[in-house]
Amino acid sequence: MRNIKDIKDLINQMTLEEKAGICSGHDFWNTKSIERLGIPSIMMTDGPHGLRKQAGETDHLGINKSVPSTCFPSAAGLACSWDKDLVNKMGVAIGEEAQANGVSIVLGPGANIKRSPLCGRNFEYFSEDPYLSSHLAASYIKGVQSQGVGTSLKHFAVNNQEYKRMSVDVIVDERTLREIYLASFEEAVREAQPWTVMAAYNKVNGDFCSENKNLLTEILKDEWGFEGFVVTDWGAANELDDGIAAGLELEMPSSGGQGEKKIVEAVKAGKLSIETLDQAVERILNVVFQAVNNKKKDARYSKNEHHRIAREVAQESMVLLKNEKQILPIKEVESIAVIGAFAKNPRFQGGGSSHINPTMVDTIFEEMEKVAGPTTSLQYAKGYSLESDDVNEDLILEAVEVAKKAEVAVIFAGLPERYESEGFDRKHLGIPENHIVLIEEIAKVQSNVIVVLSNGAPVEMPWLSKVKAVLETYLGGQALGGAVSDLLFGLANPSGKLAETFPKKLAHNPSYLNFPGDGETVEYREGVFVGYRHYDTRDVDPLFPFGYGLSYTSFEYSDIRVNRKEIQDTDTVTVSVKVKNTGSVAGKEIVQLYVRDVDSTVPRPEKELKGFDKVYLQPGEEKTVTFELGKRAFAYYNAKLKDWHVESGAFDILVGSSSRDILQRETVYVQSTVKIEKVITRYSTFGELMEHPVGAEILKAMQLQVGQSDIDHGLGAGMQEMILGTTLHNASMMSNGAFTEEMLQGILQTVNSSK
Ligand code: BGC
Repeated sequence: MRNIKDIKDLINQMTLEEKAGICSGHDFWNTKSIERLGIPSIMMTDGPHGLRKQAGETDHLGINKSVPSTCFPSAAGLACSWDKDLVNKMGVAIGEEAQANGVSIVLGPGANIKRSPLCGRNFEYFSEDPYLSSHLAASYIKGVQSQGVGTSLKHFAVNNQEYKRMSVDVIVDERTLREIYLASFEEAVREAQPWTVMAAYNKVNGDFCSENKNLLTEILKDEWGFEGFVVTDWGAANELDDGIAAGLELEMPSSGGQGEKKIVEAVKAGKLSIETLDQAVERILNVVFQAVNNKKKDARYSKNEHHRIAREVAQESMVLLKNEKQILPIKEVESIAVIGAFAKNPRFQGGGSSHINPTMVDTIFEEMEKVAGPTTSLQYAKGYSLESDDVNEDLILEAVEVAKKAEVAVIFAGLPERYESEGFDRKHLGIPENHIVLIEEIAKVQSNVIVVLSNGAPVEMPWLSKVKAVLETYLGGQALGGAVSDLLFGLANPSGKLAETFPKKLAHNPSYLNFPGDGETVEYREGVFVGYRHYDTRDVDPLFPFGYGLSYTSFEYSDIRVNRKEIQDTDTVTVSVKVKNTGSVAGKEIVQLYVRDVDSTVPRPEKELKGFDKVYLQPGEEKTVTFELGKRAFAYYNAKLKDWHVESGAFDILVGSSSRDILQRETVYVQSTVKIEKVITRYSTFGELMEHPVGAEILKAMQLQVGQSDIDHGLGAGMQEMILGTTLHNASMMSNGAFTEEMLQGILQTVNSSK
């Protein structure tokens, strides 16, 4: 075992070249070792929803083969479980597989915000909401790391598109950065301490993430207390010496000696201090030895058991979007048409660096046959080609014939892998033409149509009114087939809810006019109004709202209580609400708590998620769900104060089953303990002066001098408002000497020096 003193001793024995060398990878997946000092090398591989350990040819685009590992549902689906324990369980399983494969760090999870549904990599990210995203990321990290394996929280930060992802400069205001994009990482860092954080390729407000001192040192380390090391995304180091000075530690993969040479030269030229380099080396070695100390000899895992966990995760993550006339679960049906090539060749994972070589893959059709049993006949028709979007008349006709003869048609549709991947963004929200035509043609001959979607991000559904049910499976991992079958036939009850809004059309998305930018920059002009923060505040009807999902049972909410109605922003308030299963089957409900600032003077979203819980209830059972709300639940980021700030006033606590279905509400009054001193300047208005206690006194006196009775009697309300909107400076200029510069200065002096 190495302790901190040993590591410091080691650093003292290292040459400048060795120190610089440690800050750059040995090869594609391994850190450098230094034999003479007994410093070992450790391996890191993708992530995040299973291992992509390459034993042969290496790449970061998912091209070459990797050793088989369990492919779990990707983050977009996983997030719809809203289940921290389940996410943790999946993390534990991935940690076990990493141990069994000698992998020390898993490159994930991805906590980037889904700014636009078009981002090609959204399937790897959790949510459009930072609270949900950050808490789920924390659970994943804790799960993996409980196995003595590190994680790499990525891509830090503001990497929300694939177009020009390696160079684009994201222009984002500080409040939005803090409340949305950084908040999505913050809780994960504070609560779970990932061993590493991966710096994204892009720039943020002018600086590459890998050399962004504000992000890497001031916020991540100094403010959030991150203890591990920062690694670049693959090939994301710009100038490695500048990176190290800004708070980066490791460049991956190896840059063939270029990076370390720059570090050596920078130290020799006095541009980079040896103390800073030593600190970087220390952070790297701490993790390296932590990994080595935690290696489990002869670690193994059960492929079958992990496949079972993958099935459980998939089942909990799928979202029932529509279920007219309770067509689902399928019961007492003798013939089912199973239509769509995905039924035999499931789309279960995304493309790019997260692409996994699964240990086994369920075929949906076979799993459906198993669950349906011998008395139900299942007929398959391909319906469309997997390779192209062209409508194939013969395949459609064949599917229509099969559908006509059955009592129910289940159509498997969605996005083929060529539609969404790391490396490029989607162009639109449509599914392929041949999938759309298939659904429409089947709906003409069959009134009982159930659509099962596989896709990594929202799609438009122009055919929605023609079908009875829609089950969204996202990218459900290798055990997708079993999970879908259990849900379709009612062996399991759907309990997932959307972790992102499905818009009616792309133009409704808040980033629409500013995505993906001009190639050099992308401006986040929608500010904090991302996802439901936009749809709910501007009252734009979505296709399916954030937090939405159906169940085979029903729930009733009642009896919301808060332990205190008046608090200070340093206090916490406890909220409880009762939830009852009022249906006839057991089920799980995801209870969501949102907060609304009623009296805000700054533009704030109509509501923001500040708590969630998933409860399992037998028919007739009732449970009490409780939430703790601290300062952050009420605060916004005040860029002038450079801190989170709560404005005194009323806040609504909204509890419901989606962002659009609020079922219980209470109001609390929060008193701020931070006094914002308002400085009155010559450009302040009379209105602002009047809001100041001393200013109001002065104004009263002044008005008397200029004839209060004139104002009272002669001026209308509109005119009064005009006066209140006039600046002191302008009044002085216009007063024809009555309101002199000396008088103005006197007012400023008196008001600003008063307590
Ligand atoms: C991706 C990362 C990934 C890395 C290694 C990069 O292209 O952005 O998410 O971990 O490659 O494969």
